[in-house]
Amino acid sequence: MRMSRLHVPTLKEVPKDAEVISHQLLVRGGYVRKLAAGVYDFLPLAARVLRKVESIVREELDATGAQEVRLPVVQPAEIWEESGRWKFYGPELLRFVDRKGGSFCLGPTHEEVMVDLVRRDVRSWRALPLNLYQIQIKFRDEIRPRAGLMRGREFLMKDAYSFDVDEAAALRSYDAMYGAYQRIFSRCGLDFRAVEADTGAIGGSRSHEFQVLAENGEDAIVSCTACDFAANVEQAEIKAIAPLGADAVVPAAELIATPKERTIDEVAARLGVTAAVCIKSLVFDADGETVMVLVRGDHEINEIKLKKLLGVAEIALASEEKVKAATGVAPGFVGPVDLPATTPAVRILADFAIAAMPGGVVGANVVGHHRTSVLPGRDFPTPQYADLRMAQAGDPCPRCDAPLAAFRGIEVGHVFYLGTKYSAPMGCNYLDEQGRDQPMVMGCYGIGVSRILAAAVEQNHDADGIIWPESIAPYQVTLLPLQMNKPEVVDAAEALYSRLSAAGIEVLLDDRNERAGAKFKDAELLGIPWSVALGARGVERGVVELKNRRTRETLELSIDDLVAQLSAR
Ligand code: ATP
Ligand code: MG
Repeated sequence: MRMSRLHVPTLKEVPKDAEVISHQLLVRGGYVRKLAAGVYDFLPLAARVLRKVESIVREELDATGAQEVRLPVVQPAEIWEESGRWKFYGPELLRFVDRKGGSFCLGPTHEEVMVDLVRRDVRSWRALPLNLYQIQIKFRDEIRPRAGLMRGREFLMKDAYSFDVDEAAALRSYDAMYGAYQRIFSRCGLDFRAVEADTGAIGGSRSHEFQVLAENGEDAIVSCTACDFAANVEQAEIKAIAPLGADAVVPAAELIATPKERTIDEVAARLGVTAAVCIKSLVFDADGETVMVLVRGDHEINEIKLKKLLGVAEIALASEEKVKAATGVAPGFVGPVDLPATTPAVRILADFAIAAMPGGVVGANVVGHHRTSVLPGRDFPTPQYADLRMAQAGDPCPRCDAPLAAFRGIEVGHVFYLGTKYSAPMGCNYLDEQGRDQPMVMGCYGIGVSRILAAAVEQNHDADGIIWPESIAPYQVTLLPLQMNKPEVVDAAEALYSRLSAAGIEVLLDDRNERAGAKFKDAELLGIPWSVALGARGVERGVVELKNRRTRETLELSIDDLVAQLSAR
């Protein structure tokens, strides 16, 4: 491709609305443009990167026996009603009505459509296992689209769905996909971890996320420093620790004035103690029931664990009104001691760590006051203890007790074992060898194809621009004729362009009438793995300069050696 013809509108300035580096570089490098919040145009270079990722995905999935299909983006409400998700999916599902009054949505995922397809035509155990996938646009009306391609509303996903005769067979399909995912992300040149994950809204009982390690990642993950345990902090189990012994002497609780201090940090600062001495008391509305949850001041409540413990689908922090009804005060001074009598009494849950605290600071349920040295069982009814917090660095590994380390990650893939969550309600059955009707056992498997672009840039860049892993780079090499006014330089570049192209190498020829400095700058920004500088003096001697974008190492080579070296890659 000739740079003079390529639609690559690079920018010198960092776009105002781009906070993370991948978003900045992809916009500056002329890869993407925003059409609307969370909705992006992919320009020629980005389209090439997407295609590279897609081919890696296709090769690895096809090798497992999965088959590619392409299903509609527009999905009728009826099948979502059958699965129950028309009601439960919430506002991320973009719904609309057609001219005849029929209800539809834009597909955020394709379980319903896929199950409907399979149930109509697959009847016998002989047809199983079956694994169908597609690479296609999804739409989710995300509440906070952010970080460019990282969390879009419209994005490109690979989604696959496996159908099996029983759980054992379904887990074999799961393992095959898990293996394929490891190969896919390795081939994309990403530094990633497969971590145990929560099964979230899609549900099921086994799930792994593939997380690209990156500072800007939205997800917090922990991994063991000794064994191979790794999990999302939402999922990582934290064992109970030894509670405070009965013989521990804790001074009586004291009421302290904290006229302005409401948050843990403010209260801790006022009392001259650490956050670990304080107790956070949070009031939740759990499907209508008011519950108070206590976690240590330096710990973070885990709503997913809380939801599981309570067995409810949704929980939210209670409204100020409800907090006042339950405790007599507004948030800021709320605690478990001296709760006003209500019917039913407010249920109190506490994280395991609370049981080991030798007295804690809590809100006093009196405006402008806290209480110090508060003990469960002595100063308020013994709460129900459970694992209710996020794991963090230093917590013991649930498998081997060694300390956990914490990372941030970008989720680029997710594999779920679904069981019969969709097949049972939607009647996706097969006849077994005895002729009995059985629900198919399913798995579903997603890859954020467009998110991979952002994740790859987050992991592979420097101050000057992108550094694409070779496997997904839009071009392998860019040729930089440094003096466009010298016919011998232009001719040498043109000849090299033809030779490399003929050798099957993807070449970008920067034939623009630009200064050498501008060409070097753009080449760095675009992140093509190799560049070849052709200068007048070198060309006269029959040599060019090959530069590696990542290491910045340069090498002077004859044209023949250059062609041989690049062809060998
Ligand atoms: P998240 O927790 O990030 O919202 P999810 O659990 O909703 O992800 P899945 O439903 O499992 O995601 O979707 C499969 C894959 O699609 C994810 O692993 C991720 O890589 C990608 N993905 C999900 N939501 C988005 C989005 N809004 N923008 C870009 N990619 C996304
Ligand atoms: Mg999501």
